[in-house]
Amino acid sequence: MLFQKDHLLRKRSWFPVGMLGLVLLAGGMARAQAPATEAGLYRNNRAPLKSLQFLKLPIGAIAPEGWLKAMLVRQKKGATGRLDQLYPLVMGKRNGWLGGDGDQWERGPYWIDGLLPLAYLLRDQELIAKVKPWVEWSLNSLQPDGYFGPAKDYPGEPGIQRNNSRDWWPKMVMLKVLQQYYSATGDKRVIHLMSRYFRYQLKTLPAKPLDHWTFWARYRAGDNLMVVLWLYNITGEAFLLDLADLIHKQTFDYTHAFLQTGLLKQPGSIHCVNLAQGIKEPVVYYQRKPEQSFLAAVDKGFDDLRKYNGLANGLFGGDEALHGNDPVFGSELCTAVEMMFSLESILNVTGDVKYADRLEKIAFNALPAQIDAQFMNRQYYQQVNQVMITRHARNFSVDHDGADICFGLLTGYACCTSNMHQGWPKFTQNLWYATADKGLAALVYAPSAVTAKVADGTEVTIKEQTGYPFDERIRFTLESGSKKALPFPFYLRIPAWCDTAIVSINGTHYGNIKGDTVLKIARSWKNGDAVTLELPMRIKKNTWQQNSVSIERGPLTYALKIGAEKKEVINTKDPVANGTSYFELRPVTPWNYGLPNLSEAQLNERFVVEKRSPGGGDPWTLSTVPISIRARGKRFLNWQLYHESAGPLPYSVAYGSLLDKEEPVTLVPYGATQLRIAQFPVY
Ligand SMILES: [Zn+2]
Repeated sequence: MLFQKDHLLRKRSWFPVGMLGLVLLAGGMARAQAPATEAGLYRNNRAPLKSLQFLKLPIGAIAPEGWLKAMLVRQKKGATGRLDQLYPLVMGKRNGWLGGDGDQWERGPYWIDGLLPLAYLLRDQELIAKVKPWVEWSLNSLQPDGYFGPAKDYPGEPGIQRNNSRDWWPKMVMLKVLQQYYSATGDKRVIHLMSRYFRYQLKTLPAKPLDHWTFWARYRAGDNLMVVLWLYNITGEAFLLDLADLIHKQTFDYTHAFLQTGLLKQPGSIHCVNLAQGIKEPVVYYQRKPEQSFLAAVDKGFDDLRKYNGLANGLFGGDEALHGNDPVFGSELCTAVEMMFSLESILNVTGDVKYADRLEKIAFNALPAQIDAQFMNRQYYQQVNQVMITRHARNFSVDHDGADICFGLLTGYACCTSNMHQGWPKFTQNLWYATADKGLAALVYAPSAVTAKVADGTEVTIKEQTGYPFDERIRFTLESGSKKALPFPFYLRIPAWCDTAIVSINGTHYGNIKGDTVLKIARSWKNGDAVTLELPMRIKKNTWQQNSVSIERGPLTYALKIGAEKKEVINTKDPVANGTSYFELRPVTPWNYGLPNLSEAQLNERFVVEKRSPGGGDPWTLSTVPISIRARGKRFLNWQLYHESAGPLPYSVAYGSLLDKEEPVTLVPYGATQLRIAQFPVY
């Protein structure tokens, strides 16, 4: 049966608005393709791959500033910078990726996949030195047949993964590490290794397919495919296209599963991290075969994920199996960082606003909530309605000794301990893109500075000063060493949640722009030019399981502030599996509040937004968060604990429920909470 490939796609077209130089890309879809023959300033896809509008900048071009830099420094001082000392059993000298007889599998590469971009983004010599042995060992592990990485299995040992050393999967992570290392350094040994290894893959995959050792590689090979296409753009070796086709063929068929099978309607149908990682595969392959069905599949995938499993933090119920949309189901930390990387990869190819909106939702809500302020302890699962963080078996599809939501370095399962580090560094690296028409694009917002070539190849710096996402105003200032005016397009994403953005240039009003577009400002720029983008944020609500409501403003979801008592537990029961200590939190103020049934207009009238001056450091804690909402609510007296989670949500609107009197409540950004209600029943 022929698939009707166009009917699922939103129509996209150009929107000229009658102003010279002001052009909107509707839905953000890349339209302004540079002719394939025109030499660009940054590497685009090589024919026959589909050329892109938004092009990745090398690591080092984008510098974090403000709160974002504070987060990265926090990582350096916390677990990312010190995991070898904190977790020596796996990350110490015995690791197989350092040539040892210890852990041979994914965890070492996971850590370096975050540590390496962090090291180069911060230009931190100490961290760069820490990365180096892993890169050198990997490069030197290349064998005559093209294989690289650990190659020998060892007998089982508690706490480490010593078998499946030749599995395709962990090498997919190390390929991403090496790709980033090349981006930061230009070390040509990376190209040599990949070229040899990919020939080995092409030769070996027919007999030993992706799932020969474990099933993970078959679901995650979109990552492998990305690096194959990346190398093809550098070397142009034709066999890489054959390998891309072969990997695509052996990968779990997400396109078919999303479009034809209703996969995401079925609890238990897929592993949550496989899904978070794999969901990009059709878009990655779309570059090789630009058929609309690949884009339509991913569209449908995200729609179904929201509809059947969606949560107010931007993620979905998946603990570890796909589980549905109850706000007490778990969401794994690996899911947060892998979904972010998938959204970054999809955004890079499509330029579509909705993927940037989804990315910010996870980055500004789910991610900071799941890792503590010292970047030392994290949760394996987070719950959106999370009212008691204790060691207790909850209603998760996979439970690890009841420790899954405790804050610890190893509680639950240690994949997240190893994998969480990539979140903020890769987010930073995707704030800015070069464009095929020799301009720059800010598609995701956070305080930063980009230094890149534009126009005739002149290097400029654009500083992005903002307290976004707590602040509605973003100011871009151009610095150019050149006296001449530089004609180049500057692209700005206007999020879908924003009704009308206001843009001004050098203090003069430039335009009012409707949300859900990418604005292109084509003009001649000179040193000192400043663009101000105002993204007015209104309180909005979204509806979820049992008609519960979330309160959102801009990209932030707001949650009930709950007083907590925090207790450190010394763990003598199973320290290898769950760490020598972890933290529990119990509520000391009531949590069972619902909100009044108000329209959005009424919410904006009756709920009061309060801002404090941001301290400049980490804004994602209850004591430092610069914004909150004064609201009113009532306690649902029959809504009580069940297995140390919030019991089943009262249906909304809950007529005739046993309610207490209306009283003031405080809502704070979800990312700053540990105990919270973020999906509220309504009265
Ligand atoms: Zn994990």
